[in-house]
Formats: sequence, structure tokens, C-alpha cells
Amino acid sequence: MIVGVLKEIKKQENRVAMTPAGVEVLAANGHQVLAQAAAGAGSGVADEAYAKAGAEIVQTPEEIHARAEMIMHVKEPQVAELPLIRPGQIIFTYLHLAADEALTRALMKSQAVCIAYETIQTACGALPLLTPMSEVAGRMSIQQGAKYLEMTHGGHGVLLGSVPGVDPGEVLIIGGGVVGANAAKMACGLGAKVYVLDTNLERLRHLSEVMPANCFPLMATPALIRKLIREADVVVGAVLVTGAKAPKLITRDMLPTMKKGAVLVDVAIDQGGCFETSRPTSHDAPTYVVDGVVHYCVTNMPGALPRTSTLALTNATLPYALAIANLGWREAMRQRPDIALGANVVHGRVTCRGVAEAFGLAF
Ligand code: NAD
Repeated sequence: MIVGVLKEIKKQENRVAMTPAGVEVLAANGHQVLAQAAAGAGSGVADEAYAKAGAEIVQTPEEIHARAEMIMHVKEPQVAELPLIRPGQIIFTYLHLAADEALTRALMKSQAVCIAYETIQTACGALPLLTPMSEVAGRMSIQQGAKYLEMTHGGHGVLLGSVPGVDPGEVLIIGGGVVGANAAKMACGLGAKVYVLDTNLERLRHLSEVMPANCFPLMATPALIRKLIREADVVVGAVLVTGAKAPKLITRDMLPTMKKGAVLVDVAIDQGGCFETSRPTSHDAPTYVVDGVVHYCVTNMPGALPRTSTLALTNATLPYALAIANLGWREAMRQRPDIALGANVVHGRVTCRGVAEAFGLAF
């Protein structure tokens, strides 16, 4: 199969859908990779590295679309790219169609085979192509919390890990899934006192087995959240209720009970945020202050760390890309229910229940 790797054109997107290591694996399996010139520049990968791994460097997205049977992106196709998509072409990328009716209809019109990273799901319910970005965002949330605790960044001047003889900072993480566990790991490593709250008792049992002694996994209740936010220096919002908006677990009237200069990092902002006062921010202007509390609510946190994020993402996507290239999309979906769940729009028809229901389309 001929596989095209595009340079991302979405603003502030520096990741790339395939590394030279991935090119080598595809080439070894008899496939041809077309890499757009400068596709890896934002992630520190030079065209020469792609060429050395066996890719052909192609100058324009027009040529890639004209020749490739499967197009790989990181973000959803942008408006300028839509007219280039050919009927029957495989588009394999993050799509998030349930939030974008115009894109859904454009992809229906294209007659392409659109497979979304985010809806590929294993038999046990895991979302393997979303997990790596949650890992990055979870770990990064503590880096950001620690940074914005510095007084020059609006925080109240606490070093999370502290020094001998001085109390460490307190971190409250609400939601102990992938983001929460990764945030807890980082905060514990720094030496902070870390509370992780979740409503799933099995999850709490698991966390108490694997986390170090400075981590306290506790049942999430409104009363406990009210109590713990009083002493917290950093609060990380990491809840997810699948398919729903995030519940508002810290309301505006609770902010005056917090320390002035404490930091809220709302990782769940892409699902509406779990603090009432959260609103989406970008890497250009990541924070704002409400009632003396610093809010960090960046919707695409991994975008700031493209080198790590590209490797984390492509580690997860490559086996799927290879399966689709080896088998063709029809056979891959027949043999692999996880890949079949990735199908969102096929030859003009919506094939993902959540997307169809979002816009009242036939499924
Ligand atoms: P996950 O499903 O692994 O974990 C979510 C956890 O929240 C689960 O353990 C669940 O039991 C818990 N939970 C649900 N309701 C709760 C409640 N009321 N109180 C306490 N815990 C509750 O999900 P994840 O991968 O960790 O993702 C978390 C959020 O982070 C999602 O909204 C995801 O989209 C978002 N995210 C954002 C970015 C970003 O750049 N901002 C990046 C990656 C992920």
C-alpha cells in the first residue's frame, strides 16, 4: 500500500503521524511511504531521516493525496485539505467528529474511508490510541502546576517537593484514570503529599497497590473535595465520564475557601472541564485568575511537547497502520473488531454510533 504522511497545518500542531522508525517498518513489509517535506520539522525529525528510512520526500499535500492509498495525519483534516481527499482513500487520524458536524458532512461527501484513532477500542474497553496523550497530559499537569505555583507566574510560591525541614506542597488529583495516575506518579516523584480521588473503588484499590507511600487514593465525595481543596497547592481535574460532559466538581463558591495563589489544572477541559470556573485556554495564554486562584485549562496539552508526544503517539498508532496496510481496510476490520470500531465514515455513510446520534444521521 502507498501511505502518505502529511505535514500538519493546524495551528500550534507540531506532532507528525509517523517517525522514520515507522517508515522502516512499513517499508520492510513491502509498503511505500510518501512523507511530505518538513513533516517532522516540529518534532525534530529531518527529511533526510525519513529518506534514509526508505520514504520518498514529496513536496506538496496535493501530490500526497493524489498518490497515497492511506493518508495519515495527527489532527483532523483541515478545510484546505478536504477537497484533496479522493473517494475510497483511507484517512487515518484523530477525527473527534461528534463535536464537528461540518467536518462529518464533508467527509461523508468525500466518499473516503475515515478511521479515527480515538474510537479504536480493545475488547476490554481500553482506547489504546488515546492513552498515550493522556499519559503525556497527566505528567505535564504537574509540571505546569509546579511552574504556576511560582510567584512570578501568579502562584503563591510553594516548592512542591519542598526541602528538609519544610512541609511539602499538597496536590489533589480528582479522577484516578490514565491522566490522574500519571499526574500522581509525577507529583509523588517530586515529593509532594498527593491525594487521588476517584469514584471507582476498584481503581482506588489498584492505585493503593502501585503508588508510593506519599500517595493517598481516596473515595471521591463532595465533602472530601470541599475539605481537601482548603490545603491544596495544586488541584488537577482528571475525571472522565465516557461520552458525557465532565461533572463540575469544584464550583465558584468553593474558590474563596482555597489558598490565594493555588493552581487549578483542568485537564478535563476538552470535555467541558470539571471546575465551574474553567474555560478553554491555549499555549499562547494558558492561565487566568479567578478569586485569586490560577486556572490552567489548555485543551491540547501534548501539543507543547511534540518530540515526546510524537513518539508516544506513533508507538501506539504504528501497529494499527501496519495492520490496515497489510490487510487492506475491509479485511482489517473483518479480522479486528478494535479496528472496525475505528471506522467513523465509510463511503459516505456514518459508521460510528456516537457520531450518527450527535447529528441525527442514519447509522
Ligand atoms: P480515564 O477514563 O482513564 O479516567 C477517568 C477517571 O475519572 C476514571 O477512573 C473514573 O472512575 C473517574 N471519575 C469519573 N467520574 C468521577 C467523579 N465524579 N469523581 C472522581 N473521579 C471520577 O480518562 P483519562 O484518559 O484519564 O482522561 C481524563 C480527561 O483528560 C478526559 O476528559 C480526557 O479527554 C482529558 N484529556 C485532556 C487532554 C488535554 O490536552 N487537555 C489530554 C489528554 C486527555
